[in-house]
Amino acid sequence: MKKNYMFTPGPTMVPAEVLLEEAQPLIHHRTPQFSEVLREIGEGLKELFGTSEDVYLITGSGTAAMEAAVANTCSPNDTAICVKSGKFGERWAELAEAYRCNVVNFDLEWGKSFTADQAEKLLQQHPEASVLCVTHSETSTGALTDIERIAKVTSRTDTLLIVDTITSIGVHAVEMDKWGADVMVGGSQKGCMVPPGLSFIAASQRAWSTIEAATSPRYYLDMRAMRKKWSEFQTPYTGPVSLARALRKALHMMRAEGLENIYERHARLAEAVRESMKAIGLELLPENPANGLTSVLAPEGIDSGELVSKMRDEYGVTIAGGQGHLKGKIFRIGHMGYISKEDLLVCISAVERGLQDLGYAFEFGSAVSLTQKLLFEK
Ligand SMILES: *Cc1c(COP(=O)(O)O)cnc(C)c1O
Repeated sequence: MKKNYMFTPGPTMVPAEVLLEEAQPLIHHRTPQFSEVLREIGEGLKELFGTSEDVYLITGSGTAAMEAAVANTCSPNDTAICVKSGKFGERWAELAEAYRCNVVNFDLEWGKSFTADQAEKLLQQHPEASVLCVTHSETSTGALTDIERIAKVTSRTDTLLIVDTITSIGVHAVEMDKWGADVMVGGSQKGCMVPPGLSFIAASQRAWSTIEAATSPRYYLDMRAMRKKWSEFQTPYTGPVSLARALRKALHMMRAEGLENIYERHARLAEAVRESMKAIGLELLPENPANGLTSVLAPEGIDSGELVSKMRDEYGVTIAGGQGHLKGKIFRIGHMGYISKEDLLVCISAVERGLQDLGYAFEFGSAVSLTQKLLFEK
């Protein structure tokens, strides 16, 4: 018998209660019943984003909301500064390129976090920039960026701060309004415990002035149409009826647990993973790690891809390997969303077993033992 677990940094495991919502008979999307679903979702997402602005629901994975952010705030030949902090930072640059922006690439070594000082310098060099695009929790490296400090810098300029909070929503306390970020995007399949297929976007008041004036071509992702329809809790086109109900359920579950408790749980899980990996002689990639996933350097001579396949195919426990130039070099343990402390022991145990099978020498059982202590010792 093999039971499957996903400790991946997206998609993540989904509670049965949420999955069952998708099995319910459809309701039509132009009904008061569906509007009520959207209204409740809107409330829950505002809490997760830390904003009083409306958060819109987009049918499409996280990248759809990223594309909406660029298409709605940038016009051709606008300067867009993109922080290439990893695979997802690069996506900002590719999108800005696709929308014919004048892209200023800021190459960051993978694993490092973009700083307010770097933001300050970039904006001095490029005061004409209309947007600065950054990644809060860079899922390809596991590094976290201090958005609050960067927003302090952009708030003093005319440059909008666009933030990918796709793996920080529901994991870290995100405060769009308090921080002064201009556009934030999220996705369903990471910390929100919902299958892939939905993304979210919100914009500040000053971003809205830009959105109204922007001249980039847009149709399906036009936020002006989203805003118009959302005023009556509708979506411009056929709404994602089943996924929306799943999301409503997940948001109810999150409210019941309490957001503070959720952030605390993620911090505890993250701490246990980091410490237990260090305890068996492994090194973490990021200097300032996010709480939704942990990127670990594979031991000398071991291909992280092999560890990933072995764990998945032989023990039923899926983690992720490295992307881009880190392929084979790191493994990434996702611990966001529907993951309990008990679940984490399964994961750490499987990592130890995989490393043992691949010939890594360490004190077998010590990572599990430390995890157990950090999570449960009185
Ligand atoms: C998952 C993810 C995305 C979106 O990817 P999709 O495959 O389009 O959902 C974007 N940014 C980050 C940081 C992510 O983790």
